[in-house]
Amino acid sequence: MTQTNEPVDFIREIVKQDLAANKWGGSPITRFPPEPNGFLHIGHATSICLNFGIAEETGGQCHLRFDDTNPTKEDQRYVDSIMRDIEWLGWSWNEHLYYASDYFDQLYEFAVRLIRDGKAYVDDQNAETIRIDRGTLTQGGSDSPYRDRSPDENLELFEKMKNGEFQEGEKVLRARIDMSSGNLNFRDPVLYRILKSDHQRTLGKWCIYPMYDFAHGQSDSIENITHSICTLEFEDHRPLYDWFIKELNIHHPQQIEFARLNLTYTVLSKRKLSQLVDEKFVEGWDDPRMPTLSGLRKRGFTAESIKEFCRLIGVSKRPKTIELSLLEHSLRKGLNLTAPRVMGVLRPLKLVIDNYPTDTTEYLEATNNPEDESMGTRLVPFERELYIERDDFSEDPPAKFNRLAPGREVRLRYGYFVTCTSFVTNPESGEIIEVHCTYDPTTKGGYAPDGRKVRGTIHWVSANNCVDAEVRLYDTLFTVEKPDESDDFREVINPNSLEVVRNAKVETIVLDPNGGNTYQFERLGYFTKDTENESEEVPLFHRSVTLRDTWAR
Ligand code: ATP
Ligand code: MG
Repeated sequence: MTQTNEPVDFIREIVKQDLAANKWGGSPITRFPPEPNGFLHIGHATSICLNFGIAEETGGQCHLRFDDTNPTKEDQRYVDSIMRDIEWLGWSWNEHLYYASDYFDQLYEFAVRLIRDGKAYVDDQNAETIRIDRGTLTQGGSDSPYRDRSPDENLELFEKMKNGEFQEGEKVLRARIDMSSGNLNFRDPVLYRILKSDHQRTLGKWCIYPMYDFAHGQSDSIENITHSICTLEFEDHRPLYDWFIKELNIHHPQQIEFARLNLTYTVLSKRKLSQLVDEKFVEGWDDPRMPTLSGLRKRGFTAESIKEFCRLIGVSKRPKTIELSLLEHSLRKGLNLTAPRVMGVLRPLKLVIDNYPTDTTEYLEATNNPEDESMGTRLVPFERELYIERDDFSEDPPAKFNRLAPGREVRLRYGYFVTCTSFVTNPESGEIIEVHCTYDPTTKGGYAPDGRKVRGTIHWVSANNCVDAEVRLYDTLFTVEKPDESDDFREVINPNSLEVVRNAKVETIVLDPNGGNTYQFERLGYFTKDTENESEEVPLFHRSVTLRDTWAR
């Protein structure tokens, strides 16, 4: 993709115009504001690349702020994973690491100001009643009987809430705006609730916590954010944030909404992703089938491939669903240029070359990457006994089968022409356990001096000169394009999303600690070594992506 310095989306265009007009009297300040209640996913990556990208391109700064206002759902483990993932993507918040919980005192003071001004009140109604009295899109809400409490009474009650004198759910603080507003967010939204939970950072200091809507906009304001970029579902909240800012008379960031990323065959809601983890449909947040950044990383995705994907899809105001194959394309495109090729056999079948000398090893020259000559060649051991892919032999070949079959001649990649002479079956199961062939010594390098052609080329490894490996093959985690549209997304989980292949045989070069972790196994796809598994004797490989797009169904 060509890189230009011109804005490529409507948000960058706005930032550019603001800069030209010196609207903010300085460089843009953006932020990425995750709630630490789960791991980051590919949708977050689009927001990260947008916010950190804009800051980088304009000489501004992007803050990392944890929106940690709900201690019951949040955890330090998530904070740590989020920081690791952003750094892995290659972005830096420099010294600008913040937490909404840093502002709890300030937010409390904002609430007190609203109470004094008659703009907020303590409500004794329970959550259910508040919800019902809020009305609907077509029907106005009704006033709480506590709505007209005096500021003094409200101040006293709010202080008692803070001091832990009430039980959870007994009271809330609400803004006093307009119960008949066409925008439901204006119908006296709850600002504070009682939660007798310790917070991972403020510990036992607070037993009231601000609602997201009361914390988010003001946190942006406190940090002097210029462009507060968020997803479309916050469009209706913007007038409320503006109201708080106006009433409190504080710095007013410009909120700009864009459409969140949706991907086919994928769910991107943290609630659903954590359900997949908790209910053990996957092995964890970093399971290679998960759309989380840690899952994609384990799968073999590079930071560059994810950034490339974010560039390709761009930023828009209109919701759309991106094809999963585009994400895979971004990875394949990069790996094609960088991943060394090796041969690996997933389902080994012994091939014995009867006319090849025993106790002889020949070293055949193989190209490491046809896309990049500078990656050079390697020597692959060739011997009398090899393994070939079970599927590359057919006892009774169907039409168009171009690989090995009785009487047929094929090319062994980088090697010789071989002709199948016989095969051995297990007398009990009928399973083919060994194939015999002869080779033509004049065809070294894969070409016959007499010019005869073969229909197929197959990969192989030397039977006594290879390593055993476990290989995990993945399919989409869901069987339908839009799992979110199912009544229960768990019912459309793909039961065959993981296939474990235990007896794969791979060239020994994959054990080379200097060789990188991702290889192309010729004809089979790109595979990434699981580095957390390194201590084990048998390396574990995850198939990162197939060579061609296989799930454009
Ligand atoms: P949930 O998945 O439950 O809706 P969330 O993804 O909004 O929660 P946050 O931690 O609040 O969780 O997200 C942090 C930031 O990432 C927000 O600014 C949000 O707009 C952005 N974001 C989240 N999901 C996506 C997505 N699919 N596409 C683009 N941006 C996203
Ligand atoms: Mg959110």
